[in-house]
Amino acid sequence: MKQNIKTHMRFKVESHNQPETSGQEEHKSLRLPRWLIRAVVFSAVTLWGNCFIASQPPAVSSTQKTIQAPADPRVRGLVTITHVASDNWRFTYDLSRDARSIFLGPKTEKYHAASWELPDGFYILVEGPYSYLERRDGKPFRQVAIDVTSYRQIVPYAPQPFGLFDQGTAVNTGPLGFAARVGEARMMMSFLPKYSFVGLPDETVLVPGKKRGMVTEIDLPSQGLFVYFGKLQGLYETDRTQSILDTRFPSTLRKPYLSAVKAYASFYDRRLPHSAPEKLVIMVSYQVDNDPLVANRLLSLGGNAQHFQIMAKARGPQTLTADRQDIQKMQRFFAHEMAHIWQTSLGRDNARWFNEGEAEMLALYALEHHGHITHVEVAQNLSARVPQCVESLRRTSLLEAHRRGEPQANYTAGALVIASALSAISADGTQEDITALDRALQTRPISERRKQPLEAFQATLKQLGAEPKAVDAIGTFIRVHHDDPFAAVRLLFDSTGLAYSVDGTTLTIEPVRNAR
Ligand SMILES: [Zn+2]
Repeated sequence: MKQNIKTHMRFKVESHNQPETSGQEEHKSLRLPRWLIRAVVFSAVTLWGNCFIASQPPAVSSTQKTIQAPADPRVRGLVTITHVASDNWRFTYDLSRDARSIFLGPKTEKYHAASWELPDGFYILVEGPYSYLERRDGKPFRQVAIDVTSYRQIVPYAPQPFGLFDQGTAVNTGPLGFAARVGEARMMMSFLPKYSFVGLPDETVLVPGKKRGMVTEIDLPSQGLFVYFGKLQGLYETDRTQSILDTRFPSTLRKPYLSAVKAYASFYDRRLPHSAPEKLVIMVSYQVDNDPLVANRLLSLGGNAQHFQIMAKARGPQTLTADRQDIQKMQRFFAHEMAHIWQTSLGRDNARWFNEGEAEMLALYALEHHGHITHVEVAQNLSARVPQCVESLRRTSLLEAHRRGEPQANYTAGALVIASALSAISADGTQEDITALDRALQTRPISERRKQPLEAFQATLKQLGAEPKAVDAIGTFIRVHHDDPFAAVRLLFDSTGLAYSVDGTTLTIEPVRNAR
């Protein structure tokens, strides 16, 4: 006699999230690690590291005691990534069982249209904010090979598929599949194939976290890895970080980069010890902006963080003077991406206001702690977010921002919420400390953090001494689609004691001296 085992994954999107569990216990060994995907848009005018979390652990599984070992419900097999010629790749799927759909993560329509050549009968289904590899006739498949060309551009709000360097190319295995559907129902299974990498004859293949030369049939973390093919120049290693810097990366930024990354890693290690990651691997590509007509010759940065890796795509002139503004922009970008790796993760794609807002605030505080930004500049930086926050919140609630086409609200309004929360918990005279907030959040039960992120956040604020009135105001600000967002921001600040002045429609946040 055999009982059924159901293993399924639920996306963090209601439309794909028909709960089909029977309420059984979560099975620890099958629980995937948190899925942190952050992506960015390229913008020379952005004030902050414009990245975000696209989705969160699609992982919950349930199990019952069995008398007889059941068939493995997961989709396994082998995915082979072959470097065919300089910009040409072949991705070959050889699955352990028939699947009808492979979940590719956040939709990246331009990339798929420009770079993926699918065999007849296959297509990329885009549904809501996500994309899937399927057959047009809906029938199951076990094998498929896709010809792919390298994609240099930044893919907004999704994991970067490629990073292009002067001496090599990094391929992200994440967007090759995060989950798979085998039946007709929407239930998703874990997608955990092994991976093989075949480089060109003269190149090194570096799989971060694995021994050099280990390139066939290896297990990778479920959120994927950037695997580097090419010459290993520009490799900088410390005991905590491994950086691959594009040989085109401006020499004026190299030293500030190396010292910033080292400082922030040690700061986060010390202050957020609950989630100290493995050795951090940071890949930084640099695209030279050759167009003399480009008015904006500033440095711009984009990229994403996943697991213990950061992919940064920088763009700028051939030689960069690197003034304070450039350096600070770079520092904020890396402090933000690194914050994602250490921060406590909340929700299932329904707490981006926290994940991005907190990463922004952690970054500002990491910079302030190291004297890279003054407390006055922190306040200016926050004040500058108010008009954009108000603009976005006219069209959506903060909670729904990413689904309503306003993902940037998570960086503006999200950061203002965290600043307000810090003010609320320091109302009793204790110093503001964002890392204490993150550590306290870490002590909440993981199921609460995942399933009821806002409630977990509010309970943490109460635990740290915030007044109920302030905690309620924060909840309301996040949940409600406000008729008058400017008034809502003022009410949020008034209720949490965040000091500001207002002149007509210009709101200025008062500097707070933080001795963190
Ligand atoms: Zn981010």
